[in-house]
Amino acid sequence: MTYPTQPTASHFIDGAYLEDTAGAEIPVIYPATGERIATVHAATPDVIERALASAKRAQTAWAAMTGTERGRILRRAADIIRARNHELSVLETQDTGKPYQETSVADATSAADALEYFGGLAGSLTGEHVQLGENWAYTRREPLGVCVGIGAWNYPTQIACWKGAPALACGNAMVFKPSETTPLCALKVAEILYEAGLPAGLFNVVQGLGEVGAALVNDPRVAKVSLTGSVPTGRKVYAAAAQGMKHVTMELGGKSPLIVFDDADLDNAVGGAILGNFYSSGQVCSNGTRVFVQRGIREAFLDRMAERLSKAVIGDPMEPETSFGPMVSERQMDIVLGYIAKGEAEGARLVCGGKRLNRNGFYIEPTVFADVTDDMTIAREEIFGPVMAVFDFDTEEEAMRRANDTPFGLAAGVFTRDLARAHRVVAGFEAGTCYINSYNDAPVEAPFGGMKASGVGRENSKAAIEHYSQLKTVFVRMGDVEAPF
Ligand code: NAD
Repeated sequence: MTYPTQPTASHFIDGAYLEDTAGAEIPVIYPATGERIATVHAATPDVIERALASAKRAQTAWAAMTGTERGRILRRAADIIRARNHELSVLETQDTGKPYQETSVADATSAADALEYFGGLAGSLTGEHVQLGENWAYTRREPLGVCVGIGAWNYPTQIACWKGAPALACGNAMVFKPSETTPLCALKVAEILYEAGLPAGLFNVVQGLGEVGAALVNDPRVAKVSLTGSVPTGRKVYAAAAQGMKHVTMELGGKSPLIVFDDADLDNAVGGAILGNFYSSGQVCSNGTRVFVQRGIREAFLDRMAERLSKAVIGDPMEPETSFGPMVSERQMDIVLGYIAKGEAEGARLVCGGKRLNRNGFYIEPTVFADVTDDMTIAREEIFGPVMAVFDFDTEEEAMRRANDTPFGLAAGVFTRDLARAHRVVAGFEAGTCYINSYNDAPVEAPFGGMKASGVGRENSKAAIEHYSQLKTVFVRMGDVEAPF
């Protein structure tokens, strides 16, 4: 295998690649083989300082440009990303192990959508005029300043752009720390933004583990933190940000329900459950991993599911026909195998899958458990792997109560032909992102994010603008000031 597309250094700061080998080595492992394909170095305090200082310096002039000027650069970057989709998709596959069949349509393309959408929105960002009799007030929509983005490892290109695009559109600078497991893709995003004309310092990428993220979050120059990660990390980052009263967006984990009623189109429901459990080998935060199937269609659902899963093409992610790849890392594979073992030990019925594949790389078969009960570990904890838990239910009321009985609230879905019921059910879901007769769509035009422990704030759509800008209110008196003395 050749690696023609890799970035040339560990960090991207002030408009250029930067290496500092004094930082600890972080190996980049290709999940399909287990081989080391690159090495980056964690950011030293000096690298972190350079990133923050250049972001702080560059942000003022960027905020002074018109939104249309800023947006033009973002839209140009979107065009470059689309033109290089193949190269970027190969890199995404190397970073994550996800099949090229997926990365070529879901990663760089989604990143380009975000840059195009927020680039288009940038020129229309305004405050408002508030008439108060003869006096009046107006609001200015101002950027927050230096924003920090911290990424998870499942969508490294997309996460960099879902955070970077709205931040830059609003006139902020961003320092982005990718996950240490997938450090390569965000560097390419930075490279392309500069090629598109972004002034130096406005989108910096630094590598490192949690401690580098923590150093960024704690820096007084930082006004906002957007994290995509697990709930335990979210708690730490939210608490640290609170010390500086910083804005936050928290895109965290989930254990989302998918309810299939007996009047549903069975093939569509099975298709939705496949998308919601096995895409990206199950490493998707919004996955509907608790599948509640009404008792009457349970066996038909399981039979159809097993039949469809037997058609998954598991193998080399670079082969165009491969539709199911490895887990991102050996560590994640071991975590998921541990959950599968617990599922069996606690009495769930293994319908298919359940084993590591006998080949190099971190492959686990698509796995389905039936007869799962609400108290089992696999019913309660986020697994973040290709493991579906199927539950039986009888009534709508029962399904809703059990679906919401979780601290998480990221996503939820329902399959039914009864539209009145569908809307009633989604109104009752305690989840930020819901689907009717579909699962896991994430278009940039619609808000995405969680309720309850799954997060704070929203990414994508106009809603993201509220999380990367703040309002300043200006009161204007037209007459004399009346003071008591
Ligand atoms: P993680 O929480 O282990 O790490 C996330 C990021 O936080 C990494 O870059 C890590 O280095 C950094 N980090 C760790 N400790 C930190 C600290 N104290 N201060 C600052 N940064 C710190 O998550 P992961 O294993 O990389 O990703 C999987 C998790 O992400 C899952 O729970 C998944 O559901 C979630 N996720 C959520 C969304 C969403 O949009 N809601 C999307 C993708 C993934």
